[in-house]
Parts: sequence; C-alpha cells; structure tokens
Amino acid sequence: MNPANVDLKQTLNLPQTNFSMKANLPQAEPKMLARWAAEDLYGEIRRSRAGKPVYILHDGPPYANGRIHLGTAFNKIVKDFIVKSRTLAGYDSPYVPGWDCHGLPIEHKVDQELGSKKAQMTAAQVRRACRKYAEKWVNLQREDFKRLGVLGRWDDPYLTMKPAYQAVIARAFVDFLDKGYVYKGLKPVNWCIHDRTALAEAEVEYENHKSPSVWVRFVLESDPASIDPALAGKQVYGLIWTTTPWTLPANLGIAFHPKFEYVAVEVNGEVYIVASGLLEATVKKCGWTDPAVIARFNGHSLDRSVFRHPFINRFSLGMVADHVTLEQGTGAVHTAPGHGQEDYVVGMQYGLPVYCPVDPAGRFFDPQGFESHLPPELPGKTVWEGNQIVVEILKKHDALLAIEHIEHSYPHCWRCHNATIFRATDQWFIGMDNNGLRQRALDAIKGVKWTPEWGQERISNMVASRPDWCISRQRVWGVPIVVFYCSACREPLTDRAILDSVVDLFEQHSADVWFERTAAELVPAGTACKKCGATEFSKENDILDVWFDSGSSHLATLREENGLRWPADLYLEGGDQYPGWFQSSLLIGVGLRDGAPFRGCATHGWTLDGDGRAMSKSVGNVIAPEEIIKEYGAELVRLWTASVEFTEDVRISPMILTRLSEAYRKLRNTFRYALGNLHDFNPEVDAVPGDQLLELDQWILVRAEEVVARCRIWYDEFAFHKVYRAVYDFATVDLSSIYFDVLKDRLYTSAPKSLARRSAQTALHRLAFALVRLFAPILSFTMEEVWQHLNQPGSVHTAYFPESAELTEGIGADHRKRVENWNRLIAVRENVLKSLETARQDKFIGGSLEARVVLFADAELFPLLSQYSSDLAGLFIVSQVELQNHLSEGIAATIFHATGAKCERCWKYTEDIGSVPELPTVCAACADAVQEIIGNA
Ligand SMILES: [Zn+2]
Ligand SMILES: [Zn+2]
Ligand SMILES: [Zn+2]
Repeated sequence: MNPANVDLKQTLNLPQTNFSMKANLPQAEPKMLARWAAEDLYGEIRRSRAGKPVYILHDGPPYANGRIHLGTAFNKIVKDFIVKSRTLAGYDSPYVPGWDCHGLPIEHKVDQELGSKKAQMTAAQVRRACRKYAEKWVNLQREDFKRLGVLGRWDDPYLTMKPAYQAVIARAFVDFLDKGYVYKGLKPVNWCIHDRTALAEAEVEYENHKSPSVWVRFVLESDPASIDPALAGKQVYGLIWTTTPWTLPANLGIAFHPKFEYVAVEVNGEVYIVASGLLEATVKKCGWTDPAVIARFNGHSLDRSVFRHPFINRFSLGMVADHVTLEQGTGAVHTAPGHGQEDYVVGMQYGLPVYCPVDPAGRFFDPQGFESHLPPELPGKTVWEGNQIVVEILKKHDALLAIEHIEHSYPHCWRCHNATIFRATDQWFIGMDNNGLRQRALDAIKGVKWTPEWGQERISNMVASRPDWCISRQRVWGVPIVVFYCSACREPLTDRAILDSVVDLFEQHSADVWFERTAAELVPAGTACKKCGATEFSKENDILDVWFDSGSSHLATLREENGLRWPADLYLEGGDQYPGWFQSSLLIGVGLRDGAPFRGCATHGWTLDGDGRAMSKSVGNVIAPEEIIKEYGAELVRLWTASVEFTEDVRISPMILTRLSEAYRKLRNTFRYALGNLHDFNPEVDAVPGDQLLELDQWILVRAEEVVARCRIWYDEFAFHKVYRAVYDFATVDLSSIYFDVLKDRLYTSAPKSLARRSAQTALHRLAFALVRLFAPILSFTMEEVWQHLNQPGSVHTAYFPESAELTEGIGADHRKRVENWNRLIAVRENVLKSLETARQDKFIGGSLEARVVLFADAELFPLLSQYSSDLAGLFIVSQVELQNHLSEGIAATIFHATGAKCERCWKYTEDIGSVPELPTVCAACADAVQEIIGNA
C-alpha cells in the first residue's frame, strides 16, 4: 500500500468495546438475574466450593409481613457482602435465608381481613388463612431480596411455619420441659388489652401517655414508737405516689429503701413518712405549710410496719427493697404484686399473694378465693375508667393529698399501639436460674466475638437482669405448647413419649393437628392421670412466643443436610436484636446445646435520612429501595451500602444518591477504559513478562498490589466502606487522573504490537482482572458484566479474590527500587500540571501538547529528572521538556510554545515532521508506527 493513501486516523489504536458507557442498570440487572437463575449460579458456587473450609453466616429471619424497606435491603446486602467476600476468599459459605412466619402481627392482619367471618371459623381454618397470608409476603419479599443481587438458597428458604421447623420448635419446648427449665406460674407480664395477649419486652414500645398522678396516704396501724420513739402516740401515715391509680385496689404493700433516710414530718397534727431526699418536692406538691420534721430514721426501721389500705378492709405491708429510688414521688412505693415486675419480686420475698383483680379485657373483677373484695363501683369497669373511679373513692375516704395530670413515657403494644398494662396471668416460663441458665448464658457470651465490642456488655447486662422468659401467648397462629391436662384434677400430663409422638405428628402434618384433633385423638388410648387416675385430658390452649420460634432457627437450620454446621460463624442484625433474636437464640443454644449458637455476633446501624432523622411516612423522607432500583438500579443500593460504615447509623438522601451515581459512573468508566484498550490483546500470547514491562506500568501494578493487599484484610474485617474508598480512590486518582491519562498517547499511537503498547496492555489486563474480582462482592452485576467482556469463563462469583502478588508477578526487587522513582516523578508532574493549567487559562496554549516545558530543578531532583528525561514529555503530556538545574530548592516549570510543527497523527509538535517523505505530515515516531501497520496489513 502506498503510505500516501493511508487514512491516518485508521492507524490509531482507538479503544473498541461493547461495554457501554451507559449502564442501563434498571433494564440490564433483571436480565443478569434471569441468566444467573437459568445457569443455577448459586448451585454452581456451592459445587465450586465443595470441600473448602466452611464459613456460615446464619440469616436472621425477617417477619413475613409487608414490603422490604431500605433498612431490610441494607441488612441483606451487608450479609451478601460477607457471604460473597468469604466465597471469593476461598470459603464454602452457603447462605440459607429464612422468614419468621408466626405471630401476632400476621394474625392481626388476617383478623382484619376476615372481619366478622372469623367468628364462624375454627382455629385450624384461621391458621390456614394466616399461612396463606405469610406465604404471600414470603414470595413478595423473596423477589425483592433477589432483585438486590443477593445470592442464596432462595428456592428453599427456612420458614418457621414449615411442618419440619414447627416440629423443631415443639421439640425444643419439650426438651426445655424435660430438662427442668420450664414452669407455669402466675406472674405480672406486659399485657395488651386490645390484643388480649402477653407481650415480650421486645414487643413493647414507649410512647407518650396521659396519666393522673396521685399522692395517697395510708394510716399506720402498727405501733409508731417501734419506728421511732418520737412518734409515740401520734397519728402517722405512709404517703405513696403513683401514676396508675387503677392499681391501688390491688395494693398489698409499701416498699421503702433500706438505706435511705426517711423523716417523719408533722403537718397540722398529722405525721407523714417521706424520704428526706424527696421532702422538699413533697411539701410543694401537697401544699403543706409549716411542716415540722419530728424524727429521722433509716428505711430499715419501716420493715414489716403495717398500714391500712385507704379504702379496702385489709392491711398493706411495709417492706424494704432496693428498687426504690429518689427520682420521683415520696420514697414510699405503692406495691401491687399482680401489676408490676418489681412489685412481684418483693411481694414474693414477703410472701404476698399475686393478686390481680383485672381480667384479660382489662376489666375489674373479684377473683375467687381472695378474702377482701373490690369497692362495688369497680367490677365490670375498665382500668382506664378505674383511674377516675379510684380517685373519687380516695377523695371520699379522705386519702388523696394531691393530684396532677402528667404526660409521660409509657409502654405501648408494638402492633396496635394501645397502652399496655402489667397484669398477672397464668403463663409458661423458662426459669432463668433453673439449671444455672442465666450464669451459663453469661459465660457463653464471653466466648463470642461481639462487633462492635460494646455488644458484649450490652447483652450481658440484659441477660443478668432479665426476668424469667415468659414463653406462652394466648393466640392461635403459632406453635402450640404441647402439654395436656387431666380433665378431672388439672394435673399436667408431660410424659415425654406422649409429647414426642405429638411432635412427630407436627412434622408430618404441621402443627395444625393440635387444633384439628381432640386430646383423645392425640393421647394414646389407656393413658391415665398419674395423680387421680382419670383418663380424660384437655389440650393446653397457649402457643409459644414467636421469639422462641425464631430463636430455634439454629436448631432447625444449622444442619448437615443444609451444608451447614452448628454453631454458626456469624449472626448479623440490627441493634434491636439484643433483646430479641440474639438473646432468644443464645438462651435456646445454651439451654439445649450448652453453648451460644454463634461464634461471632455483629450489629448494623439504622438507616436515616440525609439529616440524620428516622425515615417516616409522616415526615415524608422515606426512600424505598424500589425507587432507587427504578431510577439507578440495585447496584446503587449496593454501592451505597458499601460506602457507609455499616456498624454505625447510616444516612441516605437524593443528594447522596446523585453523588454515588457519579461515583458509579467513574468506576464503570475505569473498567471501560481497560476493556476498550484490550480488544486486540490475548494475555496468553501477547503478555509481556513482568521484568520487561515499562517502568510506569510496573509502578501502577505495585500501587495496585498495595490496594489488593489492604482490601483483602478489610474484607476479612468486614470493613467494606474501606474497600469501597480504596478502590474508588485508586480508580479515580491513580488510574484515571494519572496512569490512564499518561497512557493514552502510548496506547493510541504506538505500533499495535510494539513493546510499549503490549506492556501497557499487560498492565491493563492485570489491573482489570484483579479489580473485577476484588469488587465483585460489592458491584455484583457490573463486575459480572466486566467478567464477560474480559472473556472469562463462567461467573466472577465462582472466581477467587486476586492475590496481591499476581499484580506484580515477575517484577523483581531491583525493579521495585526503580519504581519508587516514579512516585517522585508523579509528584513533579502534579507541579507541572498546575503551570500548564495556568497557561491554558491565560489562553497562552490550547491543549497541553502545544507546550514546551522548561523545568528548573534543584540539585536533589535534577539527577533523577535527567535520568528520566526521555519520559518526561509523555508523563506531562506535552511535546517537549527542557531541563535546567538552576534552582536552589524544589522545581519550577515555565511554559513556552512548543517548537517545530504539529504531527497530524499524534498532535505532538516535533522537529522531525516529514522525515519519511511518503508521510510528509507525521513525525518520525508516527511514521515508524504507520509503516509497521501498513506492513502488517
Ligand atoms: Zn396490642
Ligand atoms: Zn387427674
Ligand atoms: Zn506523531
């Protein structure tokens, strides 16, 4: 070919790739998901890791109700980062997601949907409706989670409502019963009147509530002189303060702190006992004038003093207890053991009955077998009506010293948001101190790695102080407590073999059999009550607390047939699971397997808006995952999750998303640059050995080696935000602003097969091949796309993380030393670029190739720059560089117009344009390249 006819543009090696600049993620991601499903990617990953060391993150089950929100998406994506990064690190890390399917919220919704129909339905029919409802949400949430690119055993998740799982729950209860942990007792529990059920601590929320706050006096019946001689012959009163006047009918005692000082204060001839630390406040509230302290004594002096109930004919016992505080009130605490946890504890110590004259609907009634009766105004009234009635009764009995109306934080039901009450009921409990359960749990906590570290103290404090675990609920949608009662004498039938046979039926037919069959059908014929010999039995009506269900997930799921083992390596949920799933799982693990079911336990923060506020519909600051997916793709939710430190509360806003989409674009373009310049590169044939690479190429590979080494450690530590930062900075600074920028001329204008170009391509290939695997856990869709464009087989998710040494293979110690020079040269470049920018702004030059740089350097830099003088023009992307050693310190660049003429091909200015006569408009270097290309054509 005659060089004169050559189209010079055709001789440039311009980038070529189908890896588009625009990602179109909302359209591309579903196609990728379909491909993964068709190729059974999750199964492929499992097969690729068979026999490798196992790492198990056990999924905490979300509740099967409602669409996922950003917090749930965040939770699942962090888990996905962990599972994928462990997989790429070489572990076999199966992920079996699960759902919590039983419980009040679903039963609630189904009740609402059924409306009046429910009255005609059997319990088993209601349960089937609940099951259908839960299934619907499991299916919807499953699609939402899959859409995020979270890989797992989605086609076979664990569900607490599966018959096999229900059998595990029931058997766990039987085991607890059998091992002597379980008892049935009357106990005050948080009770929702609206839902007529006991609530666990985690099911109670604190909201504001208006209550009457009353100061009530109790006549002292016992001898006042035995408290203090100065009280002899006086009319003495105990003075209590309460914000629940409706509990006063159940008052059985007054608690004092044994170590506080109390005073007897005389007001108009009547003497009141008040903690001295609260005297001033009490005087003010009760409007006393001229109060006179006539005695001071320790709270201990009041132990077993006897008071008279203000309006019911019985005594109220003086007691001492450490829970009394000086925060509010009088230091004399009204005690109703049927209506408060602490009241119950101190009442037990003093042998008081657990008296509770309030029924499940929150209405007063006179319990049988209790000697004194309610005032006639109360039976049939609700506790809320009771407040006002009791206030009137107190006035009538001249016992009310003061009343205020206050708004305070008060427990409410998490579902119906009605105020709850404390009410003593017959419940099943796991005794925290039976078989030393509490202490063993505290010991097990010490063997777990808690992230953040304060988790250990947090859960230890909770376990140390928690009451016995109330495991019974008066509902239908759950796993029944498998116990029978003798119909004649109410003796429980807890024969292990009989209960086991019922559990076996659950496994075959689901726990619905408990509701579908009679006790006679479930108890083997001929069974007789051990106490009275009767042969008729009834079934327990209560079901188990849902926290018992989800807390059994390790028993149901961490099994060999799932490729999992007990205990798990990690549990990871929000901080709200310390009183919830973390704790119930721990107690079940310690109770039945004598250890925590997890080796590590980590928490993530809450998702807040850009101003750090919780997201709520009423504020209008909710960002739903599907909105982000629709606009940007799931990849942006993933990138956001990686960009924040997940152990802390995290923020998201439209502005943050805009910024992240820009970051995504830059990362994508980094890969696009590499792919575009690798179109004619086959690493098997064309790669240049490490020791022959150009020094700048060696330099970037040494930099990448550091990034990979650090990111591998950060992945091990789950510091995904550091991985994101390091990769982003490397892509935008080291690669885009420096290396890629400098490289363009070499890649585009060199002869295609020249060492200069092959060296650059070798570096680009090593970089892309390493980064695609390094970032696969985070940008799972995009890295898969890059993987395909790199012509790699299979999926990047079955690949392994790069080893840092891969990047620098063949680059020996002597090369590394020379590579260090480039760090200094790059620093010089920064300096020169600033001068070029000024010259451009002054319109002295257009592009940087129009420039000739005269570089003045000091005695320290001059030798280095001289050594690399032939590389400097390329490094600065200018046409000419002239070196001068006339500077005392540092460097200075002066910009001149380049001399010579502009090459039509590479746009550099040179003095050798036209040195090859057939190519009169190009420089000598370009002429060489063109001749090589033509020669090959
Ligand atoms: Zn409720
Ligand atoms: Zn009996
Ligand atoms: Zn040229």
